[in-house]
Amino acid sequence: MAELEGLEFGKSDFVLLDEVTMEQFMENLKLRFEKGRIYTYIGEVVVSVNPYRQMDIYGKDTIDAYRGRELYENPPHLYAVSDAAYKAMKRRAKDTCIVISGESGAGKTEASKYIMQYIAAITNPSQRAEVESVKNVLLKSNCVLEAFGNAKTNRNDNSSRFGKYMDINFNFNGDPTGGHINNYLLEKVNVFVCFQLLRGGSDEMLESFHLQNDAAAYIYTREGAAATVSSTYPATSNNDRSSHKAVMNALGVIGFSEEEISSIYQILASILLLGNIQFESDGENVQVLGQEAVKHISELTSTDPDSVTKSLLFRTVATGGGEVIEKGHSEQDACFGRDAFAKALYERLFGWIVSRINSIIEVKDYNPVLHGKNTVIGVLDIYGFEIFDNNSFEQFCINYCNEKLQQLFIELILQQEQGEYQREGITWQHIDYFNNQIIVDLVEQPHKGIISILDEACLSVGKVTDTVCLDSMDTKLSQHPHYTSRKLSPTDKTMDFQKHFRIRHYAGDVTYSVEGFLDKNKDLLFQDFKRLMYNSSNPVLKEMWPDGQLSITEVTKRPLTAATLFKNSIVALVDKLACKEPYYVRCIKPNEMKSPVLLDDARCQHQVAYLGLLENVMVRRAGFAYRQPYARFLQRYKMTCEYTWPNHLMGSDREAVEAIVTQHGFQDDVAYGHTKLFVRTPRSLFSLEQERAALI
Ligand code: ADP
Ligand code: MG
Repeated sequence: MAELEGLEFGKSDFVLLDEVTMEQFMENLKLRFEKGRIYTYIGEVVVSVNPYRQMDIYGKDTIDAYRGRELYENPPHLYAVSDAAYKAMKRRAKDTCIVISGESGAGKTEASKYIMQYIAAITNPSQRAEVESVKNVLLKSNCVLEAFGNAKTNRNDNSSRFGKYMDINFNFNGDPTGGHINNYLLEKVNVFVCFQLLRGGSDEMLESFHLQNDAAAYIYTREGAAATVSSTYPATSNNDRSSHKAVMNALGVIGFSEEEISSIYQILASILLLGNIQFESDGENVQVLGQEAVKHISELTSTDPDSVTKSLLFRTVATGGGEVIEKGHSEQDACFGRDAFAKALYERLFGWIVSRINSIIEVKDYNPVLHGKNTVIGVLDIYGFEIFDNNSFEQFCINYCNEKLQQLFIELILQQEQGEYQREGITWQHIDYFNNQIIVDLVEQPHKGIISILDEACLSVGKVTDTVCLDSMDTKLSQHPHYTSRKLSPTDKTMDFQKHFRIRHYAGDVTYSVEGFLDKNKDLLFQDFKRLMYNSSNPVLKEMWPDGQLSITEVTKRPLTAATLFKNSIVALVDKLACKEPYYVRCIKPNEMKSPVLLDDARCQHQVAYLGLLENVMVRRAGFAYRQPYARFLQRYKMTCEYTWPNHLMGSDREAVEAIVTQHGFQDDVAYGHTKLFVRTPRSLFSLEQERAALI
């Protein structure tokens, strides 16, 4: 519960709303945004609105004001939750995590940076060199991951795709000793870093990679290059030059070798060149158009040019009789193979960079007996619910992830509440809330869930199309209360009979188009490309493709599908979070124009709904909405009661608080804990607050 700022700034905690309605929520959000108050609490959750302007609230003074303080002592701020997480970690040796969610452009990554900066600022007061170096590497790895994990989308010039989780380890002193990063990448062609390379790389560098300084010259970057005309992103900019330099420099500081750094850029260049390769068919044989590019790719990847051509045109298959033959691609298969290869190159590169960083920042030689408990603060920067006009496989995955996080959220918040009630000696009241397990099951249940049905369709021999898969979902899920489709609800004309299904998510309905689901789930990459890369004489590249050593007859098992891999990684993530004390930041994007003055009602309501914020307020209010230590409560409200003003003569603060509560007649609305007063409905408090305001 925040320090109650003056009412002219609106309510600093949404639990204080008179009624939990969208109107009241929006009214308060808007008022605070207009007054430059971008942070508001829901209990201990921070709701943040992207201000789209520099705010003077992150400086050293502010850091000092929040350092070591309790949540309610200052106006709502990211620093307050950062400090709470840090304190819990340091004083109670608890592992904690800060979950930041919201849509693209809502301010998640900025928030994670401020949190990291705050933690960096309050640790290592004695400036020990080894700790400073760990901090520096952690901050730099953020810069590298941002560059590689970002895609330039039309929604946000600098939007990370999907999610990133970083553990920061601390020693018993509370100083950072290392960390670990997990990345959850969804769209695999991330061209952002390629832009930086093309526009920011030196002429010699580009020449050595056989690249031109022109993003429009490459198919994979062409679209982005065209989009920049209308965006704020300048076409050839110093920006790219300095970002490119910053990334190269960061890689060096983190500890990548010269050889590794040049391999990274060689792979990026190969991806761009690969995208420009075309094929030509005379009806029988398919040819590669662009031998020049093939030559350059083979040079950059240290492979043999004939093998590159061959992998682009043929695939090795094992026949039923165990014979191994080479089968020529159709033109279409060749294009598919090329793009899948480019994506896989990027994905493996990215995965390799993350694991290299991890091996560098991992805590080494930590002896718990000598050094005390090694504690962790995790920072998760992850997409919130996503709903577009056309929702596909990616949105399906993101929204499933959010169902899982919501479930964890409810579990943990309830646990936390329960824990506090027990500590304070208050009888636990059952909180009624919507349990979204049923939706989680709809997606992930073995044999019956959507992911299983998708996997089954991907594994079956013969031509299974997306539509056939939809049929199968309709048959198996027709009775599920959270699933429907046009076929199951024939009167619903908002869905297409052939394409759409709809999931009733905890935060609302989302209609998905099944088109492309199977291909995206199969995520097929011909073994020939893996072998090609494994046979590279560049050890860095070879290391990324260990599965390339398998011969075709050994590759009998199907690789796990994209959805299953994704599910596994989310289950692992939830397990990691579940054993930590959680803090939450919910980010809202106020408008699509990056305007600092506009709060678009419809867009925000949409996000409030999809972030489940009203639910959040209700869960919080279902128990005791408000709680405060007796001394603090007394301090604030003693002027409203004749028995306590200016000083009380009662035995304890608790008795004095009882006198205030009784005089105002809301004794039925409170419970007295060992150290705190618990108030069920905020209205009681609000009347008190108004009375106080009238007196001062
Ligand atoms: P996300 O990670 O949610 O996609 P970002 O954190 O990258 O979004 O924010 C997008 C842009 O919004 C930033 O580049 C910055 O210009 C602006 N922004 C976000 N948060 C803040 C903030 N707290 N103060 C000032 N500008 C911000
Ligand atoms: Mg981001």
